[in-house]
Amino acid sequence: AGTLHVVATPIGNLDDLSPRAQRVLREVDAVCAEDTRHSRQLLARFGIATPLLALHEHNEEQLAGRLVARLQAGDSLALVSDAGTPLVSDPGYRLVRAARGAGVRVSPVPGPSALVAALSVAGLASDRFVFEGFLPAKAAARRERLAGLAAEPRTLLFYESSHRIVDALDDMRGAFGGRRPAVLARELTKLFETVLDGSLDEIAAAVAADPDQRRGEFVVVVEGAAEDTDARLAEGRRVYAALRAQLP
Ligand code: SAM
Repeated sequence: AGTLHVVATPIGNLDDLSPRAQRVLREVDAVCAEDTRHSRQLLARFGIATPLLALHEHNEEQLAGRLVARLQAGDSLALVSDAGTPLVSDPGYRLVRAARGAGVRVSPVPGPSALVAALSVAGLASDRFVFEGFLPAKAAARRERLAGLAAEPRTLLFYESSHRIVDALDDMRGAFGGRRPAVLARELTKLFETVLDGSLDEIAAAVAADPDQRRGEFVVVVEGAAEDTDARLAEGRRVYAALRAQLP
């Protein structure tokens, strides 16, 4: 049987396509891409003429079976998304699951991801973190999601687009308090790369003041909630007392 290679592609700077990624994309029988026009340009830039086929959210479930049959028949395939690592807020998990379920080898060609790139320059605690992907588009659902994260002690990471960055920052101030430290990573590896740090209030003000800061693609990194040791100790004692009361 063939192999399904899950290949990371650049998030901006095309020089970030690794030599191994180039070789795999050249050697496989077909490349499954989220947007074939977009990926054709990337491949053309490296002189790669491998056939492309469209695999996106809407056809992935139906197509997965046929692709797995191809893999079982001996073809090797690569999976790419428009940018960064497939499956990270991108399509692919259904195909990967189907391939693994059928006993087909699935192998990563790791590389860029906006998530790790942002974390690597944020300077916030990085030993434990929570990736929340995109927040809900509707205000009420977004606020509810953020409220549920207000006490989360781990560093939080969100993906955001230019349409909603202002609203998202405002809602984060509401849920986490404007003094919570955060980092806004914009257009990483691109010409207008900027990394702003400060309180959520300061970052929201900087973005509000400069329309250029609202352009492009964003990762918002937010410091986790300070762990309230007294409250935690009190809770621990309460649980212990309740459990003890149950013992014979
Ligand atoms: N699979 C991709 C990855 O591994 O990073 C993420 C795909 S997701 C559909 C696109 C989102 O990733 C953007 O809305 C933005 O939040 C983030 N993103 C992608 N490229 C970025 C960049 N160069 N700078 C900052 N954020 C970026």
